[in-house]
Amino acid sequence: MDKHRKYIIAGNWKLNKTAGESVELAETVEKELDGQTAVEVVLCPPFTSLDAVATVVEDSPIKLGAQNMHPAANGAYTGEISAEMLRYFYAAYVILGHSERREYFKETDAFINEKVLAAFAANLRPILCVGESLEQREAGETISVVDAQTRGGLVNVSDKDAESLVVAYEPVWAIGTGKTATPEMAQEVHAAIREILVDLFGDEIAQKIRIQYGGSMKPGNAKELLSQPDIDGGLIGGAALDAKSFSEIIQAALSLEEEQ
Ligand code: PEP
Repeated sequence: MDKHRKYIIAGNWKLNKTAGESVELAETVEKELDGQTAVEVVLCPPFTSLDAVATVVEDSPIKLGAQNMHPAANGAYTGEISAEMLRYFYAAYVILGHSERREYFKETDAFINEKVLAAFAANLRPILCVGESLEQREAGETISVVDAQTRGGLVNVSDKDAESLVVAYEPVWAIGTGKTATPEMAQEVHAAIREILVDLFGDEIAQKIRIQYGGSMKPGNAKELLSQPDIDGGLIGGAALDAKSFSEIIQAALSLEEEQ
């Protein structure tokens, strides 16, 4: 198997961990990883922990990501954070369009698209999340939902910026539920997303874009999922809050990398 794409394993800590707890978790992850660079590792703590975690990972290959941002550069948006503010803390990535933001904060594809464009403009790499609900899957709408979310989030993205994009396929019914898409189910959707990216940016660029799977990924299922041809990493929620589980998922990616 030769994917030519470096695995990217990102931990989405969601609304968990004070700055002090975040430092502890980041330090443990850093020790477990021992400087490896074959798999790209990203930690996405809450905004309030970015500064503290940045200090922990600054001399390591671990990258920092945020969980959200506002598209405006500044202004009267009480409680919001801009791309530039994230860059100040050396964030390299930002998760955009997570299903929890779509559901609880009513984020639309058009709004997410504004964020994607603002992130690229500030040299932040978006991790654009897409995925269907259980009702949509059961109604046979999975591919059309993912198609609309992917195209809707990527309007006016240039070919050059697209190369540094990451897409995360996260079936909503698998997030935090313990239910995981089978590797075959996930691969089918990842392949469809790759086709959409080919249509938008051409084959050469689409082959470079990494597509993560997210939804109850854990040490026990990571290797099987990551071995699929179009699964290039994981966006990990629950299992990323435990340094041992998170490191074991990274080890699964490393072992596949070594097999290539
Ligand atoms: C997520 O919310 O991005 C996620 C994949 O969560 P979990 O791993 O807990 O399902």
